[in-house]
Amino acid sequence: MTLSSRLLIKPGTLLSLPDIDPDETHGFAKGPDLDAALERNLTRLDELQYLMYAEHRRALLVVLQGMDAAGKDGTIRHVIKGFNPQGCRVTAFKTPTPEEAAHDFLWRVHPAVPRRGDVAIFNRSYYEDVVVVRVHKLVPEHEWKERYEEINAFERLLADHGTVIVKLFLHISKDEQKRRLERRLDDKTRQWKVSLSDFEDRKSWKDYMRAYEDAISKCNGSHAPWYVVPANHKWFRNLAVSQILVDTLEALDMKFPKPSVDLSAIRLD
Ligand code: ADP
Repeated sequence: MTLSSRLLIKPGTLLSLPDIDPDETHGFAKGPDLDAALERNLTRLDELQYLMYAEHRRALLVVLQGMDAAGKDGTIRHVIKGFNPQGCRVTAFKTPTPEEAAHDFLWRVHPAVPRRGDVAIFNRSYYEDVVVVRVHKLVPEHEWKERYEEINAFERLLADHGTVIVKLFLHISKDEQKRRLERRLDDKTRQWKVSLSDFEDRKSWKDYMRAYEDAISKCNGSHAPWYVVPANHKWFRNLAVSQILVDTLEALDMKFPKPSVDLSAIRLD
């Protein structure tokens, strides 16, 4: 079984997050071999992105979710950097602006999806609309409950039009989050990241886990699968995310288009 398939949540199954150990490393160990494997994956990502751009048939959308300090920013810095910035856009979804909040929850999302040949990374996403919104009761229950189906329909639309969707939940433990938040408090270069809501949200940890379990279980079509990545160890998280992306793009079996001109007729002076 490949690493990616071990992290995949099979469509149709009910996810139980306590059954997945955030410390799990699936037999991998930190060290030079691991560093080399990550480097190889980053090189391969660049090649596959180039092929996707040339083929111009498909696009890649990567959705990154996780609790505060789960490593969404770190994943972007260490793995997403493998893509050529020319064809890759990162969008961070924050608390909706008044203009965004006056529309349906997918209004701000659609313009950020990738065009054919490109990669888009969502640092947080429309999944906040069935997670933070549910935990903090920001809209009535019937409203967020309808969103699972609306998300499924939206992802179906994107997939039908050539978007390959990969969704990653970075799974850290509550203790690991505490260590990371404490480090932020002690480190002058990280104190700016401290937000009171991160500490408040720890009180709702179980509610967040339940909201994620439901979101992942209910919105997990084979065209838009979820992977739960054990993320207590940053080196493992980086390897796993890079491997999932490489495997996803390789499975597309992309081909360079045939030249549009007769190359044999070209004479260079
Ligand atoms: P980050 O933690 O991602 O680095 P911020 O500290 O600015 O960035 O946090 C963004 C905040 O926006 C998070 O608390 C997140 O829950 C919130 N947020 C994102 N989308 C929504 C949404 N649709 N409704 C309410 N809050 C949201």
